[in-house]
Amino acid sequence: MEIKDAKFVISNTDVSKCPATGLPEYAFIGRSNVGKSSLINMLTNRKGLAMTSSMPGKTQLINHFIINNEWYLVDLPGYGYAQRGREGRENIRKIIDGYILNRHEMTCLFVLIDCRHEPQKIDLEFMRWLGENGVPFCIVFTKTDKLGSVRVRENIAAYKMRLLEEWEELPPVFATSSEKKVGRDEILDYIEEINKS
Ligand code: GDP
Repeated sequence: MEIKDAKFVISNTDVSKCPATGLPEYAFIGRSNVGKSSLINMLTNRKGLAMTSSMPGKTQLINHFIINNEWYLVDLPGYGYAQRGREGRENIRKIIDGYILNRHEMTCLFVLIDCRHEPQKIDLEFMRWLGENGVPFCIVFTKTDKLGSVRVRENIAAYKMRLLEEWEELPPVFATSSEKKVGRDEILDYIEEINKS
């Protein structure tokens, strides 16, 4: 898919205030610093579209971007951020859960995982919760340029093995590097296929 147009539409914390156009939505989520903003900027080819974590006052909101006037890309708040404290984390979790469980337009959720890390409890629990609630999702491994290609393959294989301990089937998996623009076509083509079907 070619990205002809990508525009910020609205930020909010309330799923009922999200755009009411009925267009399909593809949402991106992951722990803070996983590389979500960089991935969104890479996918859309717009450097400053999503705010990166290094920016002061980075908002914790549901951000809608309209792509090619055909679908929405949704940037969800990062989860499990220790510095936010328990109350802050619970608040964010309420926003995330409200969106994921109530937003009918949400067609697929892309769950971002840093390819360098061992499977983390918080991500595994989150994906288990998605499965229990029948939420369609994919896994996107980020920052693959930070490891050699053999290590990337090993880490992803190990991650899949861990998931297969509790899942009969694996969700689609993408390996990406925003730095090297890897995985862009695969994700955009996947979205295009679903939009066509
Ligand atoms: P967010 O908090 O999930 O939105 O993460 P950011 O996109 O702000 O990225 C966090 C940090 O990781 C920043 O310093 C980015 O430059 C870096 N980063 C993100 N993606 C990549 C990548 O694909 N490769 C490398 N080498 N660094 C990355």
